[in-house]
Amino acid sequence: MTANPYAWLESALTTIHRADWYRSVQAIEGRSGAVVQMAGRSVLNFGSNDYLGLAGDDRLIQAAIVATQEYGTGSTGSRLVSGHRALHDQLERAIADLKQTEAALVFSSGYLANLGTVSALVGKRDLILSDQYNHSSLKQGAILSGATVLDYAHCDVIQLRQLLEQHRDRYRRCLLLTDSVFSMDGDLCPLPELLALAETFDAMLLVDEAHATGVLGATGAGCVEHFDCTGRAIVQVGTLSKALGSLGGYVAGSATLIDYLRNRAAGFIYTTGLSPADTAAALAAVAIVQQPDRRAQLWQNVTQLKQALQPLSQQLAATTDTAITLLPSASPILCLQVASPAIVLHLGTLLRQAGIFAPAIRPPTVPTSRLRLTLMATHEGQHLHQFTTALSQAMQVRWDE
Ligand SMILES: *Cc1c(COP(=O)(O)O)cnc(C)c1O
Repeated sequence: MTANPYAWLESALTTIHRADWYRSVQAIEGRSGAVVQMAGRSVLNFGSNDYLGLAGDDRLIQAAIVATQEYGTGSTGSRLVSGHRALHDQLERAIADLKQTEAALVFSSGYLANLGTVSALVGKRDLILSDQYNHSSLKQGAILSGATVLDYAHCDVIQLRQLLEQHRDRYRRCLLLTDSVFSMDGDLCPLPELLALAETFDAMLLVDEAHATGVLGATGAGCVEHFDCTGRAIVQVGTLSKALGSLGGYVAGSATLIDYLRNRAAGFIYTTGLSPADTAAALAAVAIVQQPDRRAQLWQNVTQLKQALQPLSQQLAATTDTAITLLPSASPILCLQVASPAIVLHLGTLLRQAGIFAPAIRPPTVPTSRLRLTLMATHEGQHLHQFTTALSQAMQVRWDE
């Protein structure tokens, strides 16, 4: 017998290549920021989730250094055994204060926070209703929970109501799942309508604020604050790794919810506590994001680039075979949709040659190929101008070359 049980891997990779779905990693050199080094060259960075530019901020770096010197590098155990530090308490208090909830719980990543929370809140006898564009971590959490999962069309509250009317009665608990800012499109969930449906149908509502925390709301508390829903019965999940510039995830909500998750969320219990450096950096960031100045600068950049892109996208669509559409967005995530994975890869390469990093996002991550730009508070007017110039030049090139 010489059969190779791993032989299928090669052909699976070949299939991925053929579909133009192949991915690989690229190194960013030096400190993160609006301008970074890639392959020894300075490039403008439109691919970072570091919306407020805090990942390279000296205050966060100092906080991480001080915490590392005081506590060491690893937290050495799960939070319930030997991995808990006073820093974790301080961070959880600070997040609860930012979100104006009774309590919060920190996880090792946002992904794990979603897996742990969703699978702890519902089980086999329960129903999950989930937006079709939800983040992978919500979808995987739903599968892991063993609950019946029904997707509703993106932001379609009419269909969601119908599904609730048809199915809610047959299940014990019900959980509605949604991103607040959708990570691949940049639009917002209809939060007030979702809350109203949750209340009518006796359902829990979990909102993933990963791309909204630090970005939306007067104090940066997120979409919940933006829609004036602070204090309502919502399970708020988020990450410390985007606008907060660190690593880790959190859940914020009632003291009872948090106490329950601390006892029942496997993704909290059976993993090592967040490192002192990550915890301290996030704690420094939570204080900084409540000040409005960086957020105001970020939104000013969003407005400026949208204005520059809107006519450009129409004009380009008219002069080439390839339509480019600026997708509707209410966040610093701006997507330029194109017809195929090959086109978006080509466009990404041309921009790279012009010194601009704008990631090409393709299926299966999203249904349609697009350049996904993320803006930062630390982008300057001249950076935005450089981008629009490079984009219009790239669009002059014929796609079949
Ligand atoms: C990034 C992201 C996560 C995962 O957060 P990590 O801390 O990076 O694991 C979860 N949900 C959404 C919507 C995200 O965009």
